[in-house]
Amino acid sequence: MKETLFNKLESTFKEMVEIRRHLHQHPELSFQEIQTAHFIKSYYEKLGIEVKGNVGGNGVVAKIYGGKPGKTIALRADFDALPIQEENDVPYKSLVPGVMHACGHDGHTATLLVLAKTLHEMREDLSGTFVIIHQHAEEYAPGGAKSMIEAGCLDGVDVIFGTHLWATIPTGTIHYKVGPFMAAADRFEVTLQGKGGHGAQPHKTKDSIVAASQLVMNLQQIVSRRIKPVDPAVVSVGSFVAENAFNVIADKVKLVGTARTFSEESRDLIEEELEKIIKGTCYSNDCNYEYTYFRGYPAVVNHADETELLVKSAAEVPEVSTVEEMEPDMAGEDFAYYLQHVKGTFFFTGAHPEEVPQAYPHHHPKFEFNEQAMLIAAKTLGTAALNAQE
Ligand code: MN
Repeated sequence: MKETLFNKLESTFKEMVEIRRHLHQHPELSFQEIQTAHFIKSYYEKLGIEVKGNVGGNGVVAKIYGGKPGKTIALRADFDALPIQEENDVPYKSLVPGVMHACGHDGHTATLLVLAKTLHEMREDLSGTFVIIHQHAEEYAPGGAKSMIEAGCLDGVDVIFGTHLWATIPTGTIHYKVGPFMAAADRFEVTLQGKGGHGAQPHKTKDSIVAASQLVMNLQQIVSRRIKPVDPAVVSVGSFVAENAFNVIADKVKLVGTARTFSEESRDLIEEELEKIIKGTCYSNDCNYEYTYFRGYPAVVNHADETELLVKSAAEVPEVSTVEEMEPDMAGEDFAYYLQHVKGTFFFTGAHPEEVPQAYPHHHPKFEFNEQAMLIAAKTLGTAALNAQE
């Protein structure tokens, strides 16, 4: 059975590449993926596969019914692009100014479309049902996963698998992780309101820049002195804005930052500690503040049995030379939501471009991945989907 799956995927690899390059030329931003969703839906309609569009937004869900009874296995790929001007000089370069598939979601989509087509061709011999989830808006919170789940995309699903092509790890490598794998990604905003005035008369002002500077330093103690050392967390201030003339004391400062955590305990703690420290710093500086904490995606927490099944499946794929457990990554992924509802696992498929000493990272204007990795991803996901029936 897997022999057939592999042979079929190999013979349709050319199509996978064509689809990926077409999508790469026509990227669409999160929540605006109208043409991409249409492309995906039409692909299934032409093959006579049951498909539904506008699932929780621009999401598309297809269903393939095996000839024998069994479990319902979901496979997920995201399809949105990023607000980045592509700097690669390739024949399939983005045709949309300022928009680029710089995270490989074009590859995820091509992989899943062709894998679904293959499973459809093999359906008579397969057990169970395959739910093919094409998710919009992964790159921008609140994301597409949550609304697609609310629209019922996981109804009846027993297990879910998903992968991310990862250009900075070697092609032929599969990275997995049991338990916390990717972090909860939250955002906070603080506006410190002081009292502006002449730069030569600081005693008549409440200097918001001095207060905000203290605040940035004080926030460093959340991770170093409040969070359990064995529980990874990050608090980073990414923006500090106080536009003013050189001889004026700034009236207000706006800080924006991100908090990354794996446990809900640390997540709650950071939200509270931030406010305490902001309050204290503002009190001592005689300033006022506004503070908002926005919760982004929760942490991706992989289930043990399904991850074990993935590891076993990856080892069956001839092109996979290394299957290794990786350290948790502080990046966020809304695959997290699926794993809160059903069992499953999310893993990385190595996609380092050939003949390049160092790959550009994801979200870079020169991001590129090895298209061969799509075949590896399809084989690994397909094998896991078949093995999950046993
Ligand atoms: Mn991504």
